[in-house]
Amino acid sequence: MDKKNFILFEEKFSKLDEIHYFKAPARINIIGEHVDYLGGLVLPAAIDFYVEILVQKNHSNKFRFYSVQYKEEFETIELIHQKNKQWTNYILGVISEFEKLNHKVSGLDILIDGNIPQGSGLSSSAALEVVVGFAIKEIFNFNVSLEKIALIGQSAENNFVGTKCGIMDQYIIANGKKDKCLLLNTATLEKTYHELELENFEFYLINSNVKHSLHDSDYNLRREECESALKKIKDKQPTLQNLYELDEVPDYLNETETKRVRHVVGEKKRTQAILGYFRNKSLEQAASILYEAHDSLSNLFEVSCGEIDFLIEELKKVNVSGARMIGGGFGGCILVLDQKGNKEKIIKDLKQCYLEKFSLVLEIYSFQISEGVTKVLQGLI
Ligand code: ADP
Ligand code: MG
Repeated sequence: MDKKNFILFEEKFSKLDEIHYFKAPARINIIGEHVDYLGGLVLPAAIDFYVEILVQKNHSNKFRFYSVQYKEEFETIELIHQKNKQWTNYILGVISEFEKLNHKVSGLDILIDGNIPQGSGLSSSAALEVVVGFAIKEIFNFNVSLEKIALIGQSAENNFVGTKCGIMDQYIIANGKKDKCLLLNTATLEKTYHELELENFEFYLINSNVKHSLHDSDYNLRREECESALKKIKDKQPTLQNLYELDEVPDYLNETETKRVRHVVGEKKRTQAILGYFRNKSLEQAASILYEAHDSLSNLFEVSCGEIDFLIEELKKVNVSGARMIGGGFGGCILVLDQKGNKEKIIKDLKQCYLEKFSLVLEIYSFQISEGVTKVLQGLI
């Protein structure tokens, strides 16, 4: 947290109580894309990019927020959707979910800052929800588990923001562990942590800087298409709970549903395969699964975009071991798994040809796998 923010906080709100400092990380997901709302297995990890907040109780019924990124203030006494200040809905949504659980949240002042690129598939939205949920639990001493904080964040995004996201992002951001990825069953919330031995390989991210915006994108449509496929299948197989339980694609779905279900069934197979490759330390093969996953996301689930597909093809041309789009899609970041030392060699040319073709600046992020949401300091000033 920039030191200036402490001064800014006092300027905006005055010090009325103890000021607390919390932060929540971004996340990557190695495999299991667009299956966390279909009961699938996912393999995410928290990374060291953060949404950070300073918070105090203001001893009133007002909620007052200040966004450093947007340079915008906001004040309300009512928990209602804000059409023109979307960023406030993630916070108001979380407060509203606490209230639904009969946890009364009194007035708060919150300053929000951070370095997670927004709308880039690294889940800045879930980081914001989880950091606010965690702060509320700590400040009001609510008996709420980290799992519940994740569920509160997801409900806030589903109900208040309007994005029908799954549970993965909030779950890993609340429960991340340093140097470990999480294998999460999104149907049961059973989880195991795993350390990936990457040997001479590394993960890194390429931001296409094509901005997605999940809430007004096709994201919710994908969910509806999957729900309609599930409904048809359940008519014939009533015991089926989730699309992810399927091992074969039924032959009576329409063309769109068939494509979506083919992605889901394929992703299940790819997940098993990649887990095996990681176990055997076959990193080259593990990486190649990422290309397969991308192909499916682009052609079957249809959530990629021209810029990202172009980058993936360029990476293949220069023999990068594996890469795929991550997150909701329609832009944002690519996750790369490649031999160490290659990144430096390929990036300059890639940046240049991307700029020439799309007039967009490509960014590269290296990262560490980090802890989930944390309290950094209490009673600061
Ligand atoms: P992603 O979660 O992939 O970053 P989303 O579109 O789901 O993309 O969420 C991005 C939105 O989350 C932003 O448009 C903004 O409303 C909110 N947000 C994220 N980080 C911050 C922040 N540091 N300050 C204010 N709002 C933020
Ligand atoms: Mg998001």
